[in-house]
Amino acid sequence: MWHYSDARAAVRDALRLSQAMTFKSAVAGLPLGGGKGVIMAPDPAAADARHRRRGRRADALRDFGDTVEALGGSYVTAEDVGTSSRDMQLISSVTSHVTGLSRRHGGSGDPSPWTALGVESAIRVCCERVFGSPSLEGRTIAISGLGNVGGRVATACAKAGATLLVTDIDARKHALADGLGARWVQPGEALTAPVDVFVPCALGGLLDHDSIARLGAPIVAGAANNQLADDDVATLLAARGVLWAPDFVVNAGGIINISVELEPEGYDARRAGRLVRGIGDTLRQIFDDAADREVTPLDAAMVLARRRLAEAGG
Ligand code: NAD
Repeated sequence: MWHYSDARAAVRDALRLSQAMTFKSAVAGLPLGGGKGVIMAPDPAAADARHRRRGRRADALRDFGDTVEALGGSYVTAEDVGTSSRDMQLISSVTSHVTGLSRRHGGSGDPSPWTALGVESAIRVCCERVFGSPSLEGRTIAISGLGNVGGRVATACAKAGATLLVTDIDARKHALADGLGARWVQPGEALTAPVDVFVPCALGGLLDHDSIARLGAPIVAGAANNQLADDDVATLLAARGVLWAPDFVVNAGGIINISVELEPEGYDARRAGRLVRGIGDTLRQIFDDAADREVTPLDAAMVLARRRLAEAGG
């Protein structure tokens, strides 16, 4: 659920996100396709509280659930930016094609901790490549977006001994930063800070021709979907010697966890954890393929995704 300038922007976002979802499931080796739903909400900062009071947010979620129900199970919805497990519970009042319900209601709960676990594994593999060790002890890490995923990644990195620079457009996130002993910077500074790793955990489109010229870190690995403004940026990043971990590989933890919920044996958190940590191995394979074939990690990840999609289609 997000605020968009117009319906066209919302549709464009849904299409980009669903394409990324398709590649994400394929690279993670999941027996799922790709899909994404977008609810175009009023400006969240200005109108959220007012709309909640009037129950209009709940109405929008129920309408969305009706649409999911009409698709008859070919699309299964889940929590993402701007929604919560409670929202999934509300949607489940009108459709059964919903995942990520709370554990109490028979689901696997919020996918964000699993996404964060995958991001942490990815950061470690990138550090192994660039610095020769997966340890985060003493590393400097800048995290943009301290939401459900970024907040958890920040907590894990701080626990592992990293020095953190963090930012968010929501000033309420200062409390988490203070609790972790992290230095708060302005949103633009997280990208340019001379740190070891930049971790984008806000929204997409952050890396474009202009912004990467100002990038301060030799590694970019984060949860944000669609980080590259266009695919050329992957080539420019490689030419600048920046190791970029493809977003749809890094942030697959949530969907991997949800895929376990859909298995016939039912949900098993330990199995989910094992599979999510496998993101590190997938990334190693992608970086090896990229180095062998002298292509970008994006190209190597796309080749892997297309091969798996062709196998599934065949
Ligand atoms: P969230 O809404 O909980 O958090 C996003 C945070 O980013 C918020 O705190 C918001 O204030 C902040 N933010 C927005 N614009 C910003 C900016 N310009 N600069 C700095 N901060 C900004 O979302 P989330 O669930 O943590 O997801 C983060 C990203 O990861 C999104 O791109 C999402 O699509 C992607 N993702 C999330 C999951 C998941 O399991 N939640 C799974 C895969 C991908």
